[in-house]
Amino acid sequence: MSSAQIILTDRLFDGASVREHAYVVYQHGTITDVGARADLGERISERFAQPIVLPPDATLLPGLINMHTHLSFSAAPTVFDDARSESDALKMIRIVENMHAALAVGITTVRDCGTWPHLALPARDAVMRGLLPGPRIIASGAVTTTGGHCWYCATEADSEDEVRKAVRAHVKDGVDFIKLFATGGNTTPGSDALICQYTEAQLCAASEEARKAGRRTAVHAHAEEGVRRSIAAAVTTIEHCSLQNEHGIGWNEQMVGDIAAKGIYVCPTVFRGVTQYFNDPSYQPDARAEQFAKRLQQRLQLTRRLADHGVRLICGNDAGVSHCHIRDYPGDLVLMAQGSGLAPAQVLKSATSVAAAALGRGDIGTVAAGKAADLLAVQGNPLDDIKNIHRTTMVIAAGKTITLKTSSPKTSSPKTSSPKT
Ligand SMILES: [Zn+2]
Repeated sequence: MSSAQIILTDRLFDGASVREHAYVVYQHGTITDVGARADLGERISERFAQPIVLPPDATLLPGLINMHTHLSFSAAPTVFDDARSESDALKMIRIVENMHAALAVGITTVRDCGTWPHLALPARDAVMRGLLPGPRIIASGAVTTTGGHCWYCATEADSEDEVRKAVRAHVKDGVDFIKLFATGGNTTPGSDALICQYTEAQLCAASEEARKAGRRTAVHAHAEEGVRRSIAAAVTTIEHCSLQNEHGIGWNEQMVGDIAAKGIYVCPTVFRGVTQYFNDPSYQPDARAEQFAKRLQQRLQLTRRLADHGVRLICGNDAGVSHCHIRDYPGDLVLMAQGSGLAPAQVLKSATSVAAAALGRGDIGTVAAGKAADLLAVQGNPLDDIKNIHRTTMVIAAGKTITLKTSSPKTSSPKTSSPKT
């Protein structure tokens, strides 16, 4: 039986607000107590064998939630060909590799928006059973039209009856939520982000079927009309939500008001992608890369406008698509804050407590008694300067220590240094 563990920190961001000089106690993967260090008294060493003392000026936060990943995708420019040609065994190795990479940067939960359930579900279950260290995986069953966007990782269904059956089959397999594709997208040859794939009635049927089974829905929507149909279908989250028309990224005051009023979450999926290489003098961006960079700036402005209109934003970086790795997530959170002008606290909430609310998971996303011991510590204060989110000193997933760099208690370093010659 594992004993209770205590963490002492100068600063705690609990997912909603900040408190100074705090402690967090957890046991068996669950937080049991959170409080002020001043209330602890003198006898910490008697109660806790090895307190974890975070370095001065460190910040303890909830583990990050990445709300939009594709764990089996290659993140290469050839992502579509890779997804079609790679064996399931290779994809599963990639999933495990991405799980390690996620934990290393402090991601303790991923909502996977497009990996075949026969791969995502065993990976999810392996974490739940303790076979693999986290992150916990919230796994989707995806439904698209025949030959539609992401058909290579989704069930193809066209009519109202077919989408209902596809949703039911995914629920039968044990998926956590349903991913729908209201419009075309960019990673599937022949697909067009401006084209609506499903009628309003079909989208409503799929959403209703998911709701009946107690499952939430995430809907990929770029074209404005696809966003409108997603709102009509009362989906849980709209992915991308770029409100595109033939002139590019758009805006619709009425529609955005409806999203906010209905409490639909938006995951804008802003990520640096190829723009990460723009500072490298040896990199010559092609027209496609330039177009991506231009669109990214527009998407960041749109993200800000959505927030200003009261839309609840959640963070996810579409990890797995071209030039976007799961390890890039902290940098993409920095982009979301700095590129859109949102306060770091708002972005960090969108990546923790608000994300958990969108998942309907009251057990994660905040640091409080009764919550999962999913914890991240970084050096410095990411609420002042969000770039500090990169400076990981500790990651704990469901009570398991993944990374731990502390300044104290001082431990004697092993005598392995070779004698000077
Ligand atoms: Zn995606």
